[in-house]
Amino acid sequence: MTLTVIVIVTVIVTVIVIVTVTVIVTVTVIVIVKVGVTMIIGKIHSLESFGTVDGPGIRFVTFMQGCPLRCQYCHNPDTWDVNAEVKYRWTPQQLLDEVLRYKSFIKSGGVTLTGGEPLLQADFCREFFRLCREVGIHTAIDTSGAVMNERTLAVLDYTDLVLLDIKALHPEHCKKVCGADGKNALRLLDELERRGIETWVRHVVVPGLTDDDQQLDELYEYVSRYQVVTKIEWLPYHTMGVFKYKELGLDYPLDGVEPLSAERISIIRKKIIKK
Ligand code: SF4
Repeated sequence: MTLTVIVIVTVIVTVIVIVTVTVIVTVTVIVIVKVGVTMIIGKIHSLESFGTVDGPGIRFVTFMQGCPLRCQYCHNPDTWDVNAEVKYRWTPQQLLDEVLRYKSFIKSGGVTLTGGEPLLQADFCREFFRLCREVGIHTAIDTSGAVMNERTLAVLDYTDLVLLDIKALHPEHCKKVCGADGKNALRLLDELERRGIETWVRHVVVPGLTDDDQQLDELYEYVSRYQVVTKIEWLPYHTMGVFKYKELGLDYPLDGVEPLSAERISIIRKKIIKK
């Protein structure tokens, strides 16, 4: 009798211990995961609540801080330094809360992450887009494709549209334009085709740097082969960001280059994707 009681008590105590430990471990894991997610902090350079040029419809555009490239024509050199002081250091949920203030305005558009290079902060982008999907907001990312790794590719799981900025098709030319060979951008285009994610290709046309007719034709032919590419945007070079170089004490690489003429860009813009 005594032995039976001891066995029963032992079993009960063992079960209680196992259940208690399981509950503690489960709760701890949940807390770690939740805290891990909420601790993602995005470094945000600036916000634009009624953007009309970075994707379809009216969009809430977020300019992320940091970029690994140094395009000669860049008009946002103030976004380059990922360690610079920024106006906003927000979690993905904080950014979504801000976006939701404008939800009625962007219902036919969505959100766009740009920069800088948003994929430098891939975890933030992924979580923000995941939250946007939960509330039915269209997601677009404007990227040079310069950063390619598992974390940047994971952002695509929640991306509706990619605005892929191809600096130049040929590696040596691309290095001259932006400092990198551009191969990752082309790899990203392959990945977007594989995943079936709609893509708009963008290309900045700079007199004497990226406006060679043969190279423009080659680029046009190259990207036209991809089913996911539904649009190509030829962006005319302008000089509106030059003053920022002066403010930052930087030399402007294209000093003296005039903006692309309206006539020239209207001819180039005849190269359109028809699908
Ligand atoms: S990728 Fe964009 S932000 Fe980065 S240097 Fe080029 S133009 Fe500037």
